[in-house]
Amino acid sequence: MKTIGSPGAIQSQVDETSPRAVIHLDLDGGKQIYRVHGWRWRSLDDPLFATGMRRALDFFERAGVKATLFVIAEDLGDARKRELLQEAIRRGHEIASHSLTHRKLTALTSGEKRREIFESRERLASELGVEVRGFRAPGFAMDRESLELIDEAGYAYDSSLFPGGGFARGIEVDRLNEWPHSPLADRRLVELPLPAYDPLPFPFHPCYSLMLGSWYFRLGLWRFQRAGAPLVLLFHLADFADRLPNDYMPNMMARLYLLTHLSVETRLRRCAWMLSLTQRKYQLVTTADLLDQISESARTPFASRPDKIIDESCHSKSQERRVAS
Ligand SMILES: [Zn+2]
Repeated sequence: MKTIGSPGAIQSQVDETSPRAVIHLDLDGGKQIYRVHGWRWRSLDDPLFATGMRRALDFFERAGVKATLFVIAEDLGDARKRELLQEAIRRGHEIASHSLTHRKLTALTSGEKRREIFESRERLASELGVEVRGFRAPGFAMDRESLELIDEAGYAYDSSLFPGGGFARGIEVDRLNEWPHSPLADRRLVELPLPAYDPLPFPFHPCYSLMLGSWYFRLGLWRFQRAGAPLVLLFHLADFADRLPNDYMPNMMARLYLLTHLSVETRLRRCAWMLSLTQRKYQLVTTADLLDQISESARTPFASRPDKIIDESCHSKSQERRVAS
């Protein structure tokens, strides 16, 4: 396992006993962001995707980071996006699924959910020639049926759920652990939870912290890191992309959502700061490495917190009743 150097002047103080962090990037392009909000996208091009991807790849390169990219599989139909995805794979990043068309799974029929989950994995694997082990639900909208389909489709992990905030109810369990765990009894699917943020009102990952200020990230990370659980640091393309021209903006909400009040330079500087702060507390590893450590720990006690990884205690009471009866 390798400790990755910080992009700025701050030196990492982590060692083998430090908690792990993985870097994720959701590849929501302009077209999909507008579709999910019901706004009209007026172009055949997607400058948000193109400029966001190029700049994110350079940002990770400079920082020595190998990230996991959550791809919306319909983007494989766009030759320019496909080329950027192949470039990301050449640079050593992992590919995971962010569904087929980026519609909220909880609003779909069973057949549509199955297609979003199964077909995205198959297309990404066959057209990019990679193993696709992870899934993240669009808008973090998850229900139990979808989670069971994700397991059935052969994914090793899901990373869509925040502990708290009603997410446990959505998948019909009593509570969600902030450590990686198996949320479904008798299934091998691992949940890599997104970082808990209670009692803050919003998650503290970079897009919210760019909107609300650096203090928000510092506070959220400080609260979360006290538990020592692995951190999923989740970036989005809009954190890195060029500002879209004014004629792309349907309303004020879009301007805020796409962070157009911040220059590219400001966003990059603040993203580098958030990454540096993370590297002072966490050992950065790839998602594949983290999963290997988790499965290893299921066979032999995990060195630091044997009780926390693959915690069975959060399975629902109804499951226990079913098993007992
Ligand atoms: Zn998304």
